[in-house]
Amino acid sequence: MSISRSVLLRASKSPFLNRQASHRAFVKRAVKKFMPGETPAEAIEAALKLAAEGRGSLFTKLGENLTSLDDAIAVRDHYLGFFDQLKAQDVPGQVSVKPTQLGLDLSQRACAEHLDALAAKASATGSFLWIDMEDSSYVDRTLDLYRVLKAKYDRTGIAIQAYLRRTPADIDSLMSLKPVIRLVKGAYAEPPDVAFAAKSETDLAYFDLSERMLERALVGECTPIFGTHDISLLQRLIARAKDLGVADGQYEIHMLYGIRDGDQRRLRSDGRVVRTLISYGASWYPWYMRRLAERPANVWFVVKSMFA
Ligand SMILES: Cc1cc2nc3c(=O)[nH]c(=O)nc-3n(C[C@H](O)[C@H](O)[C@H](O)COP(=O)(O)OP(=O)(O)OC[C@H]3O[C@@H](n4cnc5c(N)ncnc54)[C@H](O)[C@@H]3O)c2cc1C
Repeated sequence: MSISRSVLLRASKSPFLNRQASHRAFVKRAVKKFMPGETPAEAIEAALKLAAEGRGSLFTKLGENLTSLDDAIAVRDHYLGFFDQLKAQDVPGQVSVKPTQLGLDLSQRACAEHLDALAAKASATGSFLWIDMEDSSYVDRTLDLYRVLKAKYDRTGIAIQAYLRRTPADIDSLMSLKPVIRLVKGAYAEPPDVAFAAKSETDLAYFDLSERMLERALVGECTPIFGTHDISLLQRLIARAKDLGVADGQYEIHMLYGIRDGDQRRLRSDGRVVRTLISYGASWYPWYMRRLAERPANVWFVVKSMFA
């Protein structure tokens, strides 16, 4: 892992820096590149523009590692109302949640109940519920949560991280559920015995895992979703899907709002299913620091915003 990436990921956990950054106007200006605004209304407005281009949206209210179950209940209730808003405004949107935002650090049972309520609502409103994957200490519990949820609700999916050494076995263990898997490279600082240290190893693993998922998609055992902005990797996967005979609608491409927007548009106009993940909410600091860590050159946006 590069020094700048590890420094930024360490900074993402600092409450002091969080307090400092969250109130600085120039940081807020830089954050705008990655989120249309802090309110759900601004997120929905952005999604409607994407929908006009044929792109779907995924929404996430920022916030993680909550310290009270009342806060987790408030998050659950927020999303329950949000699903209704999506339906009322006819937004082709899905919701992506972090288990720690629904109380996983405090009670696995409560988190499971909140997920159940959200999955029921997603089904009832014709939407879809995603479980994000957080750092490696949460993987077993998050997989358990998904196993229970997917057995009951079809319209649910899980993010799986290609950088983890355990991931091939985890994907195999989910197959009997006919999972919907959003494969991402992985965004957290992990020790080398847990995750690949070299980006090239993660990229290789990403391709291998995706290829396996495409093969399973052919026999209806898995819905692969590629959550990456790595265009050359995506091109190779799209070619592989064609060779295997996997149809365009049998897999999707998910990217983050504000990143590789031209490519997102082009992929959509070439016939792929593309969804853009839109974040909103005031607790953007740790999430934004992970975006900077993915591409330390982004720090220049922050510096430039000081003078904008
Ligand atoms: C829809 C979605 C959901 C995700 N959910 C999770 C999750 O649940 N758990 C998790 O650990 N991670 C998640 N991630 C983040 C993921 O793990 C990676 O950290 C992130 O996507 C960057 O890796 P990459 O695949 O885009 O490839 P990279 O090889 O890192 O990037 C490829 C290219 O994309 C562009 N790019 C990538 N990141 C940025 C950026 N921040 N700013 C500007 N340009 C950039 C650059 O041009 C770069 O060269 C998610 C990502 C997406 C797209």
